[in-house]
Amino acid sequence: MSDTIFSKIIAGEIPAPRVYEDEHCICINDISPQAPTHVLIIPKKPIAKLADAQDEHQALLGHLMLAAGKIARQLGVDDAFRLIVNNGEGAGQTVFHLHLHLLAGKAFAEGSL
Ligand code: 5GP
Repeated sequence: MSDTIFSKIIAGEIPAPRVYEDEHCICINDISPQAPTHVLIIPKKPIAKLADAQDEHQALLGHLMLAAGKIARQLGVDDAFRLIVNNGEGAGQTVFHLHLHLLAGKAFAEGSL
């Protein structure tokens, strides 16, 4: 997989303040926020997109979900947040290093995506 902006951020080659970090992932503010809270949860291990994940990544994917809940609590938005994964260009993915968008702080219409 070629280097992406996220690999460079993880490596510290491009500065990005960490909202959260542990041994398996980092969380940073999105540079172009779509909600008052919009952070990206990025595994340190590069997987280009969710559909490329394999059985061996099961624990990592679970870890990302648990990290999302922890980060939501840390940011005080655990009552109402949305998690989004864009998989592939057709779904709007622009950075090909798997990441979760965590959005909160605006009204999400009931039942809408
Ligand atoms: P995607 O479209 O791949 O699902 O999401 C990529 C996200 O990364 C976008 O929301 C975009 O604003 C964000 N992004 C792109 N480049 C940078 C960057 O250099 N720093 C940060 N913090 N976010 C970035």
